Amino acid sequence: AHLPEHIRAKVHNHPCYSEEAHHHYARMHVAVAPACNIQCHYCNRKYDCANESRPGVVSELLTPEHAVKKVLAVAANIPQMTVLGIAGPGDPLANPERTFATFRALTEQAPDIKLCVSTNGLALPEQVEELCKHNIDHVTITINCVDPEVGAKIYPWIFWNNRRIKGRRGARILIEQQQKGLEMLTERGILVKVNSVLIPGVNDEHLKEVSKVVKARGAFLHNVMPLIAEAEHGTFYGVMGQRGPTHDELQALQDECAGDMAMMRHCRQCRADAVGMLGEDRGAEFTLDRIEEME
Ligand code: SF4
Ligand code: SF4
Repeated sequence: AHLPEHIRAKVHNHPCYSEEAHHHYARMHVAVAPACNIQCHYCNRKYDCANESRPGVVSELLTPEHAVKKVLAVAANIPQMTVLGIAGPGDPLANPERTFATFRALTEQAPDIKLCVSTNGLALPEQVEELCKHNIDHVTITINCVDPEVGAKIYPWIFWNNRRIKGRRGARILIEQQQKGLEMLTERGILVKVNSVLIPGVNDEHLKEVSKVVKARGAFLHNVMPLIAEAEHGTFYGVMGQRGPTHDELQALQDECAGDMAMMRHCRQCRADAVGMLGEDRGAEFTLDRIEEME
């Protein structure tokens, strides 16, 4: 199955959305967003957000000023770099000052670079207007459930209006915000990809329902990613040893959720400071020390 023409036109040079583009164009992430406004059972805050980035790695946290410097240095050295994403190490929209200071400076200084953001969606509705002011065609929302019963098993709490809200009540608010944000973005012509983390025994069957709901609200891709359970990374339900899906389990769900949308099977869950082509990480070439040497 292929993407419709108007969508292809927007994604042809975005390495994360086009099978062909990911061989020719590069993306980079800058880790400017340390805080998060929810708790996922599968998260270990010492590492990058597991929703878009590869969990279990620690990215170099940058100030917006340093991030802009780094982007400009990478753009000068990797001409194929077309997309700058903010995906962590926490939630970009839970750090709106830092995220939007970075976007504002880049919109001014590097107007050719497309901007991209990945979020858990809790703060999305209130940020949609600000997002629309920048060169953003795509947003990724991680949606693991559309049912608060399931949600309560994934999210022990959310932080909402200065309070911690636990269990089903918290999960219900998160789900409502995600769906509202998704709808607001698609109404404004911004493409939305939905990522889901497949957690065996928790949301595996449920993801088919998630897929239907998010497509009905206008998501153009639904990407099922495996929970990466590593002894060092994973405590789930406070219990060590929640397993990730097998290759076959993942494949079966990806087939089920693909529907008539081309799936992004080449997604690499790149780290929050990844640099380069997908599957490639040239981040070590562009640490702050190195950038200062280049100047
Ligand atoms: Fe961790 Fe990301 Fe979940 Fe926040 S949204 S708790 S950073 S996995
Ligand atoms: Fe954007 Fe996600 Fe690709 Fe990063 S990995 S550039 S946040 S779509």
